Amino acid sequence: MADVVVVGAGITGAAVAHHLARAGASVVVLDRAERPGAGATGRSGGMVRGYDPDPAVAELAVPSLAVFKAAGNWAAGRSPLRVTGAVTVAEPAAEAGLRAAAERLNAAHGTTAHVVAGPAEAAGVGLAGGIALVEPEAGWVAPTEVTEDWLTQARGDGALVRLGTAVRAVHERGGRPVVVTDAGEIRAGAVVSAVGAWGAAPVPGLRSSAPVRSRSIQVTVVGRGPSVPAHATFVDLRTGLYAKPVGRDRTLLGMPHLVWDAAMDAPPDQAHERATVAALTAHFPWLATAPRLDTVRAADAYGAARGDGPASGLLDGTGVPHVWAVRAWNGGGVKTAPEAGRRIAAAVLADAASDAV
Ligand SMILES: Cc1cc2nc3c(=O)[nH]c(=O)nc-3n(C[C@H](O)[C@H](O)[C@H](O)COP(=O)(O)OP(=O)(O)OC[C@H]3O[C@@H](n4cnc5c(N)ncnc54)[C@H](O)[C@@H]3O)c2cc1C
Repeated sequence: MADVVVVGAGITGAAVAHHLARAGASVVVLDRAERPGAGATGRSGGMVRGYDPDPAVAELAVPSLAVFKAAGNWAAGRSPLRVTGAVTVAEPAAEAGLRAAAERLNAAHGTTAHVVAGPAEAAGVGLAGGIALVEPEAGWVAPTEVTEDWLTQARGDGALVRLGTAVRAVHERGGRPVVVTDAGEIRAGAVVSAVGAWGAAPVPGLRSSAPVRSRSIQVTVVGRGPSVPAHATFVDLRTGLYAKPVGRDRTLLGMPHLVWDAAMDAPPDQAHERATVAALTAHFPWLATAPRLDTVRAADAYGAARGDGPASGLLDGTGVPHVWAVRAWNGGGVKTAPEAGRRIAAAVLADAASDAV
């Protein structure tokens, strides 16, 4: 018997488990894979920033960035944040909104976010006719490192992390969930389904009441020669193009890959790789001669949450009492994970404790 079973040891499940265990709950984390971060998390670029055009995402991303920054939050004793700066490019017409957003970010965190309008470039990123919100204090994290750190903290607080254990079904017995795994059953006060893109597959009792689909995400890593200036992480709201530096000599590039119902292990799409590099040359002219080093394809869960569970919009029901599915992250679940995990854990703890088990 566990207070809460968390299904999925990606960045979402790890964040939830960490907060649950820190609050004193008995927690079991289950993942079908032999290592944490085997899904979207392990392939993710991990770009984190406070700004997002969707206020509901920004509300999670702003406190999450503060958590990533503070060394004291991490078992490793240091912050996982690589501070490279973050550039968000938008239409010139969005200038007033971006200036207001920069003021809000700076008021909340004493940061130096600002708008660049006029110059052709900001923090090493060509703006291609757009303007930019620059967050010098943002950057990227390695999502698997963050996931493993949270699982280390959860174990230290008494959580049991069982890898290589697939959940086959979750059903109700006596008003509470029973989790059926390939290694036996676990009774729980509540269950959190944090299975990412696998939520689109019909595992009884884990599937969200909100429609969720798996969508492909593909990124290409290129070499950056010594004469090329450093650059910040970057996303263009007009096109969905994005990029981030990887160390001193490589850059990761991405462009939306609108392939739905994609498997996590689908092979790379070479035509999309070529199109990605060509499109990003408008922002990084040096790409014209950059060597392509690697292309990684994965998938994330996409869909609009119904918000019919606790944690206002972050959890949906599954049809089984006290079993909650985490909302789809639509390709952005790293930058919101710290605050989302905190809120989900608080709501689920209250639910697990409700009524006598
Ligand atoms: C290439 C790429 C780049 C990205 N870049 C960014 C970025 O720059 N910034 C950002 O914020 N976000 C980014 N994202 C999105 C972000 O990585 C995801 O939103 C996030 O990692 C989702 O985490 P998760 O824990 O919800 O899901 P996942 O990491 O997919 O984890 C789900 C876990 O559930 C387990 N599981 C599934 N079914 C079962 C079962 N039946 N029983 C037991 N275990 C099960 C899986 O093994 C897996 O470990 C990117 C994603 C990709 C793929």
